[in-house]
Amino acid sequence: MECFELANGVFLPKIGFGTFQLTDAKTCEQCVGYALETGYRLIDTAASYHNEKAVGNAIRHAGIPRSELFLTTKLWIQDTGYDRTLHAFEQSLKKLGVDYLDLYLIHQPFGDVYDSWRAMERLYREGAVKAIGVSNFSSERLIDLCMNQDIKPMVNQIEIHPFFQQGDAIKVMKEHHVLPQAWGPLSEAQRDIFHHKILMKIAAKHGVSTAQVMLRWHYQRGVATIPKTAHGERMKENLDIFDFALSEKDMNAISTMDIGHSEIMDHRSPCTARQLNSIKIHA
Ligand code: NAP
Repeated sequence: MECFELANGVFLPKIGFGTFQLTDAKTCEQCVGYALETGYRLIDTAASYHNEKAVGNAIRHAGIPRSELFLTTKLWIQDTGYDRTLHAFEQSLKKLGVDYLDLYLIHQPFGDVYDSWRAMERLYREGAVKAIGVSNFSSERLIDLCMNQDIKPMVNQIEIHPFFQQGDAIKVMKEHHVLPQAWGPLSEAQRDIFHHKILMKIAAKHGVSTAQVMLRWHYQRGVATIPKTAHGERMKENLDIFDFALSEKDMNAISTMDIGHSEIMDHRSPCTARQLNSIKIHA
């Protein structure tokens, strides 16, 4: 698996396996197990997905050396704050059954993120986590964090796909040596994207699927991805993007699909701030 090198020298696999909405423990364990068998080495989970235990079980059963795996989990809003972050981190480690994490992310740009960041800096310095970062941070929030904290986030995991290409946000991340990692890299299957005529035309030309075209497009833009699928064949397909290349004309054609905003979640809207802040993941 090809990797991106993060600002601190840690290597992050260019394609990982996403586990959002794999909430049924048995299904999640089976899917992650199969993903590992297929060749995925980065597994993306979150405390709020309620599947860290199932991910941990799959990892244990796979028998792959820990050093070959890249495990990401995320801190939920309810657990922000210095002490709460340290506690939530321990809980996640326990559920995953590991003694360190590869990447710990602040899941949302809400709550006491500055105290959380200081706790994460501590975990990083102590070696409990190899890299730290954020998720869903808009450019100005990211710059603020980068310019005011001792350790800059190494990753910002945000929504990126052909309908919401985030060109400006990616530029800012690259200027600050923050790796963009796309969630929803396949647009969460919205707007029947797998049958979009621009993608279908490019896919036919290269003899690949539209999902592969999208994942290759991310790859050529220097964006890491974590596609999710509950289907074994699609897991293989989504990893198999290294044997063809999109031309400049293909890339330009995909750039015309950008609608410039999210139809999944607008993190800047008061409604989203209220909604996400009201989600409690434990008592
Ligand atoms: P996604 O990966 O863009 O799309 C998943 C959808 O695409 C599913 O409906 C899946 O269906 C379908 N799919 C996958 N591969 C396919 C293929 N080759 N052909 C046809 N359909 C295919 O969306 P996502 O799961 O929201 O995002 C990926 C990961 O990002 C998540 O799992 C999670 O780990 C992370 N995430 C993070 C945040 C955040 O706030 N940080 C938010 C959302 C997601 P099947 O499963 O039926 O195959």
